[in-house]
Amino acid sequence: MTTATDVSTPPDYRHPKCYANTRGGCSTKISGEHYLSHGLIKLFSFDDPEFRIGHDNGLGVRRPVQPKEFKANVLCTTHNQALSPADDAAIAFASFLRGIALKWMGGTGEWGRAESITISGDDLQRWVLKMFLTHAAVGSFKLDGKQVNTPISADAVDLLLNRSQWPETWGLCVHGDPTNDMLKMDPFSVDVLENWWGYFPLLTTWDQTLCGGVAELTGVGLGISLFNQGRDVGALDDPRHPLRGSVQRPRSMSWVVDGVEKKIEFTWTDSWVHRTATWTMRR
Ligand SMILES: [Zn+2]
Repeated sequence: MTTATDVSTPPDYRHPKCYANTRGGCSTKISGEHYLSHGLIKLFSFDDPEFRIGHDNGLGVRRPVQPKEFKANVLCTTHNQALSPADDAAIAFASFLRGIALKWMGGTGEWGRAESITISGDDLQRWVLKMFLTHAAVGSFKLDGKQVNTPISADAVDLLLNRSQWPETWGLCVHGDPTNDMLKMDPFSVDVLENWWGYFPLLTTWDQTLCGGVAELTGVGLGISLFNQGRDVGALDDPRHPLRGSVQRPRSMSWVVDGVEKKIEFTWTDSWVHRTATWTMRR
């Protein structure tokens, strides 16, 4: 007699197409993982049925497609579903900032009353990592103008699936130095509705493994680091470093106009120090 247990997928099953398969736990079905959360695309396309999206670097999705087609078959259904809280965090982050930007109209509209939301910092951090790993899995990065294959480290997958704690010197960071315009901090210009998404990876020069990058969402650069960049010994002081002067894993990000604050508070489950980051803007 065959029981349900007999036919279930073994816990160590590794789907060959799932980039998160390093320790098994895969389902037998591969799923289409959006390069960029579907909910984000819908948010910024205003649900326009004519809206098309693609990659502008000649790799990945070369010809713009409908949002529902903007995906790669690189995660099994189990691992895809396990990461949906990461999408939720990114959508909450972008929805909050986009709503303010639409009223503020680059300084010509209303700033309104004080507002705040709370988002899981762990999940937003995971979203940035997921976005990069999904692109890495299909080889859609370039180095010196040439397409490169980007190995995904087992460490990166462990962090993605919450199997290990982020080391103190790794992880998410945001703008903290006014002279660093590579890590953006401008969610409220009108332009942000046109240019609401972008990314650039940091790859190791020896084997092009993904070691970090910056994802831009709603005019905010979300940096990520997958190794100790030497922040404590001044390695990030180099004027060419995209993460220069950044604030790691902020406790909150606030924008203030005429004393009225719009604030995103982040919850974290790690034991590291979390600083606040505040930007005061003028009309
Ligand atoms: Zn899997």
